[in-house]
Amino acid sequence: MVHVRSSLAGLRSYVPGRKVPGAAVLASNESPYGLLPGVAARLAELAGGLARYPDMGAGRLVDALAAHHGVAAGRIAVGAGSSEVCAQLLHTVVDPGSEVVFGWRSFEAYPILTAVAGGVAVRVPLRDHAQDLPAMAAAVTGRTRLIFVCNPNNPTSTAVGARALRDFADRVPEHVLIVVDEAYREYADPAADALDLLGDRPNVAVVRTFSKAYALAGLRVGYCVGPADVIAQARKTQIPFSVTALAQEAAVAALLDRAEVARRCALTVAERERVTRELRALGHDLPSSQANFVWLPLGRDSDAFAAHCLGEGVVVRAFPGEGVRVTIGLPEENSAFLALAEAWASAPTSRK
Ligand SMILES: *Cc1c(COP(=O)(O)O)cnc(C)c1O
Repeated sequence: MVHVRSSLAGLRSYVPGRKVPGAAVLASNESPYGLLPGVAARLAELAGGLARYPDMGAGRLVDALAAHHGVAAGRIAVGAGSSEVCAQLLHTVVDPGSEVVFGWRSFEAYPILTAVAGGVAVRVPLRDHAQDLPAMAAAVTGRTRLIFVCNPNNPTSTAVGARALRDFADRVPEHVLIVVDEAYREYADPAADALDLLGDRPNVAVVRTFSKAYALAGLRVGYCVGPADVIAQARKTQIPFSVTALAQEAAVAALLDRAEVARRCALTVAERERVTRELRALGHDLPSSQANFVWLPLGRDSDAFAAHCLGEGVVVRAFPGEGVRVTIGLPEENSAFLALAEAWASAPTSRK
């Protein structure tokens, strides 16, 4: 029998949101609006060139991102989704047994990517569904190499504010890399933009993705803006050519469709506020979301609630024993979900 790494034995596999044909899929925080118009046109043009390898350095995309953020191209690393970028950053700083700190619950890729990189996950419990940044700073030891701050936090939807973020960065020693994962930046309060607040610090990397607001989850492309010395090392850890030619060019085209992205995000935010209001009116005590989803802390009812929704053609994401994450979809999908939440609220306890 082949010897398998012992650290993989206890590792849970990533659980993706379900896809159910014909259902309203509100389980993976994707954009419900489909490809941006400029992206669809560009993809059709590119199909003929796919027999060739892509640009290894993703030069056009890196340059477009550098211009977009007003930073040097040497400060940008790209990957096959921001998940791969997070892996690159881990592989850049983690030695066997290094500690990696993050709030919990948070993005379920963090413990997996940490273990695969040979690190030890240090989970700091959330407080009131939010990351407890002082406790996370206090969890730093001489072995800590990286801290993930998921802002807004997936799956609890809360964000930490500008002041808290700056105080946190002031407390974390400079040998520790702070990775602010801003997968949902476009839906969140503009004041807590980590690039604006912390972008020039020597130990801060900000990770963004094209999977959510830019509607490219299926193509896999994300990036980070970080200190040039860290980025130079991180690029070495990328799997060669991991960002496909289609993904590179689609991302460049998506950056040009910014007005449409902003319009869609505004629709999603308005819908998020409507869904939140109506859920609260039904008696749910849910945190204020800064993302494109809401978090229903249903505890032991989480699975039953998700099953109730699935039975009626709406897929939501249950975290057993904790809560249910519901992506903001099209207005009619959100209304369908709210009708199910209302039916649930009025059902006798025995049926739950
Ligand atoms: C969805 C999500 C991502 C994006 O992952 P990709 O690999 O870019 O698709 C990253 N971080 C968090 C917290 C997310 O929720």
